[in-house]
Amino acid sequence: MPTALPLVGNPEAQTRMVHVADTGRLHHACLFEGPEGVGKRTFALWLARYVNCDAPTRPCGNCHSCTLLLAGTHPDLIVIGPDPERATAVISVQQTQELLGTLKLQRHSARHRFVILDPADLLNDESANTLLKTLEEPPAGTHFVLVTARVASLLPTIRSRTQRIRFGPVPLAAMIEWGQTRGLDIKTVEAAAGSPGLALRLAAGEAETRATLRAAVLGAIGQPLGKLFAFTEAEGKREDGVNHAAFAVDIVEELLRDTVVLANGKHVRGDPDTVDRLRGWSEALWPGGHARMSQAVAVARDRLHLNVNGRVVLEALLAQLNLELSAATPR
Ligand SMILES: [Zn+2]
Repeated sequence: MPTALPLVGNPEAQTRMVHVADTGRLHHACLFEGPEGVGKRTFALWLARYVNCDAPTRPCGNCHSCTLLLAGTHPDLIVIGPDPERATAVISVQQTQELLGTLKLQRHSARHRFVILDPADLLNDESANTLLKTLEEPPAGTHFVLVTARVASLLPTIRSRTQRIRFGPVPLAAMIEWGQTRGLDIKTVEAAAGSPGLALRLAAGEAETRATLRAAVLGAIGQPLGKLFAFTEAEGKREDGVNHAAFAVDIVEELLRDTVVLANGKHVRGDPDTVDRLRGWSEALWPGGHARMSQAVAVARDRLHLNVNGRVVLEALLAQLNLELSAATPR
């Protein structure tokens, strides 16, 4: 019995694989096909742990086998991706020949050795052809899992030697529920269109964008107006300028919120230099300037909703903040 199925969505594909594993009928060459980011590779790696773990509820994550498989250092787990020696993305014949050599050796300690080819559509004719015989009849206890989002790019001779397992996009309701457990906002989840992997990548990229913009906003404030406008212009020129402007407005609001926290004698997180600067802002703004800036943030957001140019909106907001900060005499 598994502890729990590892993926959000695709319960049929997962249950079916668990069932064949439990009944000792795991095919020696499976083809996991379906859109990017739905968990095909994650499931293949989980399956390797599931069938090799001896704990009552598998995979336990703690035994010798699970630990090595989780770390990716188990000698009986072979994951092959694009050849790093090649300029173009390909699983090369050198890689498949080396694999065949390895498969001639005895398994180390695993009951089931796993070979994961991901993405399998990177096999070219030559490398695919070297694998055909072994795919049909691998050494005992060896299982191939071919992972692909472009099944039509695989040679028919490869496809016909595998058992095909289809993974589909994850329904929105399941995505939303899953997103909540990961702290993802609903817009990110919706934008990922049924791909949890894409949602996580979007969220990571968004976090990075925010961190960069936060540093840029902090750097721009307190500068002469010319430099401030150079910053807003650079932000406005990006292809997705409106999104960046919306982010920048969020960040100004976030910084202002920190100044209120500081004004109330509480601590905020951040590096000491930034916290010192925000303390300065807090003294300069509190309370009148802060109220005016909160209003300015609301106005900026409204204007972005009305599709006013992002650069213009940012310019007005940051210029006002600059003015409030320079006009105030720190107490
Ligand atoms: Zn285990």
